[in-house]
Amino acid sequence: MSLYQTQKLKVYNSLTGEKEVFEPLSEGHVGMYVCGPTVYSNVHLGNCRTFMSFDMIFRYLKHLGYKVRYVRNITDAGHLENDAEDGEDKIAKKARLEQLEPMEVVQQYTLDFHSILQKFNFLPPSIEPTATGHIIEQIEIIKNILEKGYAYEINGSVYFDVEKFNETHEYGKLSGRKLEDMIANTRELAAQDEKKNPQDFALWKKAEAQHIMRWPSPWGDGFPGWHLECTAMSTKYLGETFDIHGGGMDLKFPHHECEIAQAEACNGHAPVKYWLHANMLTLNGKKMAKSTGNNILPNEMFSGENNILSKPYTPSVVRFFMMQAHYTSILDLSDEALSASEKGFQKLMDAIDSMEKLTTSSSSSFNVEEWKQKGYDAMNDDFNTPMLTANLFEAVKRINLIKEGKETITQKDKELFIETMHSFAFDILGLENQNSAMLNSDKLNSVVGLLIQLRNEARANKDFSTSDKIRDQLAAMGIQLNDGKDGTTFSLS
Ligand code: AMP
Ligand code: ZN
Repeated sequence: MSLYQTQKLKVYNSLTGEKEVFEPLSEGHVGMYVCGPTVYSNVHLGNCRTFMSFDMIFRYLKHLGYKVRYVRNITDAGHLENDAEDGEDKIAKKARLEQLEPMEVVQQYTLDFHSILQKFNFLPPSIEPTATGHIIEQIEIIKNILEKGYAYEINGSVYFDVEKFNETHEYGKLSGRKLEDMIANTRELAAQDEKKNPQDFALWKKAEAQHIMRWPSPWGDGFPGWHLECTAMSTKYLGETFDIHGGGMDLKFPHHECEIAQAEACNGHAPVKYWLHANMLTLNGKKMAKSTGNNILPNEMFSGENNILSKPYTPSVVRFFMMQAHYTSILDLSDEALSASEKGFQKLMDAIDSMEKLTTSSSSSFNVEEWKQKGYDAMNDDFNTPMLTANLFEAVKRINLIKEGKETITQKDKELFIETMHSFAFDILGLENQNSAMLNSDKLNSVVGLLIQLRNEARANKDFSTSDKIRDQLAAMGIQLNDGKDGTTFSLS
């Protein structure tokens, strides 16, 4: 029996605006697609928040026992400046400015992305496809949409015909926009604009002579549209209909709206059962964004080198700070909030470390099973990590009361309590206990340093029984003292 059979998960579906019982299309299996980064610059902390929200969701689905195929792409072509229909490709522009091959830009920032995610203890997705690796699939989809009559070719570019699509489908249903309003609110088409209507979006763009990223196609040399790549990669790896599509809230329109239109035009049915959108990380009350410069890089967080920070924060503290907010709520970054999270995180890790040593009794004065279920109830309620965190702090309170002799716990309950705390904090929230890492470094160095000093003093006083005792007992703990001409050092055996 898998956990998902007893824990009834509900998710907030942006498409319906309702919290719905999560029932995957195929029992026990989940297909999840999340729009990945456009690799033309270093990921900022805002990007990391969205990916972290889906890492937590991935972790929880796996924890429930689902077999999850998690696809998160790398956008390495087709994403134009300002997410608009014209302008330069973000990667091609960076390559031009830095006099690099576009694929050098892609490689540099993909490596940065991976290294940051690793520091934050992300689980790798099951598949990480690139847009440039799926040009053939994208061309096939365009041919299909052209055949169905929902697109038109003009001067070597192909555009999606939004008005035509809207005659028989509903363009705007995800973002809650109406095509008539969009038409009323948009500018007239500029004279040089080749689209029939401003709402139409590019499936394929003709590459002008100077455009360095180009591929041959039935419509001439060009490059694919940004929205199309996600349709191509999600369909290829998860099928025409899959369970979860995620991304940041800012991608709802136009990106995800266009993905729905493309897939419906192509296959005649909706591509996704549950649309999940993660909310934004703000700084000074404004969205963190590359383009405005209102952002902070993860490495600045870890080194403390940014003037909004009073000190460095470890990846796990930043992760804990993010997990203390619900993924659908806006979260504002500040030094005070991070500092409060750091204190909470330390308290939590200290409590977890001390659990093994809790004295047990013949009965438990509180119901561990009930506390555990409260944690699951929080997560089952659309991944409510702030509620789960509150539940962890309730546990910290209990741990301290047991230590003070005001609460009791049986051996069996203690084992369950420890196991559940570990599942919640480490498996689901993805935190890492930096206490243990510290114990292997700073604290260990100072403690052994002190013992070496006491041993030297004992030897100077010819108190060899004490000096030998220190050496032998450390050796028994696996800490080997090595006497050399420059003094005593130690190694772990
Ligand atoms: P991009 O690399 O610009 O395509 O963005 C990658 C992901 O980061 C997308 O899912 C965006 O929605 C998300 N994102 C961008 N800015 C923020 C922010 N300030 N807070 C949270 N997510 C963001
Ligand atoms: Zn996408």
